[in-house]
Amino acid sequence: MKDYDVIVIGGGITGAGVARDCAIRGLRTLLVERADISEGASGRNHGLLHSGARYAVNDSESARECIKENLILRRVAAHCIEQTEGLFISLPEDDPAYRDNFVEQCGKAGIRTQVLSPAQALALEPNINPELTGAVKVPDAAVDPFRLVSANILDARLHGADILTRCEVLDLIKENVTVMGVKIKDMSTGEIRKIHSHYVINAAGIWGAHIARMAGVEISMLPSKGALLVFGHRVCNMVINRCRKPGNADILVPGEVVSVIGTTSDKVPFEQCDRMSVSRAEVELLLNEGAKLVPSLRNTRIIRAYAGVRPLVSDDSDPSGRSVSRGIVLLDHSSRDGVRGFISITGGKLTSYRLMAEMTADLVCKKLSIDKPCRTAELPLPGSDNAKTKCSSLVMKAAEKREGSEVNRMSFEGKGNELVCECEMVGRAEIEYAVKELGVRTLDDLRRRTRVGMGPCQSSCCLDKAAMVLAEILIAEKLSSESGAGELAAALKKEFLQERWTGIVPVCWGEQMAQAEYLRNKYGKCDSTI
Ligand SMILES: Cc1cc2nc3c(=O)[nH]c(=O)nc-3n(C[C@H](O)[C@H](O)[C@H](O)COP(=O)(O)OP(=O)(O)OC[C@H]3O[C@@H](n4cnc5c(N)ncnc54)[C@H](O)[C@@H]3O)c2cc1C
Repeated sequence: MKDYDVIVIGGGITGAGVARDCAIRGLRTLLVERADISEGASGRNHGLLHSGARYAVNDSESARECIKENLILRRVAAHCIEQTEGLFISLPEDDPAYRDNFVEQCGKAGIRTQVLSPAQALALEPNINPELTGAVKVPDAAVDPFRLVSANILDARLHGADILTRCEVLDLIKENVTVMGVKIKDMSTGEIRKIHSHYVINAAGIWGAHIARMAGVEISMLPSKGALLVFGHRVCNMVINRCRKPGNADILVPGEVVSVIGTTSDKVPFEQCDRMSVSRAEVELLLNEGAKLVPSLRNTRIIRAYAGVRPLVSDDSDPSGRSVSRGIVLLDHSSRDGVRGFISITGGKLTSYRLMAEMTADLVCKKLSIDKPCRTAELPLPGSDNAKTKCSSLVMKAAEKREGSEVNRMSFEGKGNELVCECEMVGRAEIEYAVKELGVRTLDDLRRRTRVGMGPCQSSCCLDKAAMVLAEILIAEKLSSESGAGELAAALKKEFLQERWTGIVPVCWGEQMAQAEYLRNKYGKCDSTI
């Protein structure tokens, strides 16, 4: 008897989706993540729920996948999605023939379009470049990637899956040509142990190449870095794209109270994937190109820069990775390499994660002779089930906006209604829920689950309070060996600030410099690069 039917490596959107699908089908499932969930590309992307329009001209298969999944996710993951719609705008220097072809190819992929005059587009989005020559409306949307991963993990757990975060897979257990499980290290205690399973699923994103090597197989992957900038408020309410062949900084996505422009696409060495930072040159490029979409971006405070690495399967003929297919890559290593018990799932996009999970779970079920159909296209994620809610305060309403009907599981009695983060309106009850149900142990985990510290003040106003509330809850729930909330709060804050500075340093000028000075004076200098 093996410990599990499947062990999934990686707590990004792909691993989370696979674990959920397998658990719903009744497989004994374990997910292992070396850090926190969403620490890889899944927490470092644009947050665009693609309509597929971006790929319609060059990659029709991806375009068709995107629109299909876009429509499914609007239903089953409604609380993670803001139905913004999108505009593809053409500027005087853009080829008008591209737009005509774009509309035709969207039609072929099943993507609804509406051609707009410049005046019609400006009426919808007054801040876009007034020199535009035309626009096309498409069903793009904004998706909160952190929330999407978290809801999949929660549902996997509710269906019986075990989730181990801060546990790194050091090696695979192999007998002759069969993978039998994983050898993991608990990063908090240092304990090393072996866990056995019938199947191991490699969903480790760009690090999947390394995991594959543990099984003795090669996946030729291309680490393609993308850098992004976060602006201090929403400059538009729709997703704004450039109507041309995909290039740098041609997508602007509104995300809650901020806006995100991106991205670049550059091949980077594998060693860099663990330490992503953004250079001044990348910031300038993003700003210059972004201002062509929305000119007021030039005078808007940039609050942060970040970067992620796309897990693309390699094509040596394209050094940037821009034209490499964003298509799904499912590798059955038994038929491909003669290694049994091991499957890799990579490529794709956040938008297509559900389909990637379905394809992977289908393959595992076939191998294990289990006849259980996929149900994730119809089963809503926790929070998206349209259950009735009763929200009487602003803090409750904000929690409902983020967590949907899961707000019913939060306790707003007594101190529960206390406001902690003003930018994002996060209260104590939501933090308590995030610790108990969503595995939050640090302030950075809390940021990824609730958006504490992600708004315009970038934590400079709420950090003391958030650290103290989190420390009190961790101690009350016996999730920390510290007995003093003050000491624990100080340690949590120090760790959090180290990470925050990495994203602030590349955009430190003008108003943001003043904000950074305020943060530094209030919380003390960090050992970081500033
Ligand atoms: C800049 C950028 C912008 C993007 N924008 C969009 C967008 O707007 N819309 C969209 O649909 N897609 C977008 N994407 C693509 C999308 O983000 C990725 O396709 C998706 O997030 C990949 O998810 P994943 O789970 O496969 O990988 P990841 O999220 O990288 O997850 C892999 C996980 O494996 C873990 N791991 C690694 N090694 C080990 C180990 N030894 N043991 C245990 N765990 C391990 C890592 O810590 C990580 O958490 C973008 C990507 C980038 C980089």
